[in-house]
Amino acid sequence: MTEHQHPQGFETLAIHAGQEADPRTGAVVPPIYQVSTYKQDGVGGLRGGYEYSRSANPTRTALEECLAALEGGQRGLAFASGLAAEDTLLRTILAPGDHIVIPNDAYGGTFRLFSKVLSRWGVSFDVADTQHPEQVRAALKPTTKAVWVETPSNPLLGITDIAAVAQIAHSAGALLVVDNTFASPYLQQPLALGADVVVHSTTKYMGGHSDVVGGALVAADAGLGEELAYHQNAMGAVSGPFDAWLVLRGIKTLGVRMDRHSSNAEQIVALLSRHPKVTQIFYPGLATHANHEVAAKQMKAFGGMVSFRVEGGEQAAVEVCNRAKLFTLGESLGGVESLIEHPGRMTHASVAGSLLEVPADLVRVSVGIESADDLVADLARALN
Ligand SMILES: *Cc1c(COP(=O)(O)O)cnc(C)c1O
Repeated sequence: MTEHQHPQGFETLAIHAGQEADPRTGAVVPPIYQVSTYKQDGVGGLRGGYEYSRSANPTRTALEECLAALEGGQRGLAFASGLAAEDTLLRTILAPGDHIVIPNDAYGGTFRLFSKVLSRWGVSFDVADTQHPEQVRAALKPTTKAVWVETPSNPLLGITDIAAVAQIAHSAGALLVVDNTFASPYLQQPLALGADVVVHSTTKYMGGHSDVVGGALVAADAGLGEELAYHQNAMGAVSGPFDAWLVLRGIKTLGVRMDRHSSNAEQIVALLSRHPKVTQIFYPGLATHANHEVAAKQMKAFGGMVSFRVEGGEQAAVEVCNRAKLFTLGESLGGVESLIEHPGRMTHASVAGSLLEVPADLVRVSVGIESADDLVADLARALN
């Protein structure tokens, strides 16, 4: 279990950090400042530092301060999507000729960003199984500027020892980036374990209601945070005020949602564990998970994502997805409603044929916060 390094408890910060009552009206929630520009009192006379909403917007500032507080970092930044955050980060910390180590299990879009976009700009990468820290060490080169880790990973729920990989990256003068989307800062705080930057798709658990697309970066160090903020403005992929407000609203209930996601997932895992058609389960809460001990050490609970393989190959896996009713067939994850999908044909179609290819008989579920009995009954029906 990680220690929250904050003067206040996590849930208190989630509801209050960056969100003092509006000084003019007393509104207890930050208003949606749906505005592009700000009146100046004489040339250069800014009220509160705002001049143009790409550079800064008060609703986005509230979210950014809250993000920094929740991850225990010096600077939080909100973007239009998770991939926009990743792109801004990578083109801030990497230059042509640089090398990065990436995981062999990751969000398909992250891999596509490296393999199809950044590779054209002279950034090379090697794929390592980051669940084994020594494989990260073996992949380092003199030009390695960063190590990228996703834990738990998508879709195989691999667990990487953040503290161990931080040490390895730092010994080579490289930064450690952790995609904390699956855990959220409520369950895991990578910066306290030595990571330099945390990445989020706030589309997922942070927003939590499947009603917004967004991304975030949180930097441990103020200097790097400043550089990222410079590039956020220079590259322009910012979160709009309404989207920032939705994510801020979602974050207020992050703690109670993650507790329920985790306990509902445990009930789904119990069903899968006793089901004859399920051949393998991927969940860090299982004592049989290869890195269960690491997960127990660095996570507060094991989260709401579960993947499993079924007897009968790809067609059987597709049929389970098609038969589920309460589990909605769809991409994405982390919302209050349960989702089911076939990674091979859906979220991870873009990694087919690469080192990140996923098993064809794999099913992934994002366990929502509906009544657990209903979820168990629905999945049992879909499996039969
Ligand atoms: C969804 C996701 C992303 C990408 O975020 P978008 O908001 O879709 O751009 C990155 N990492 C992980 C782990 C994700 O699940």
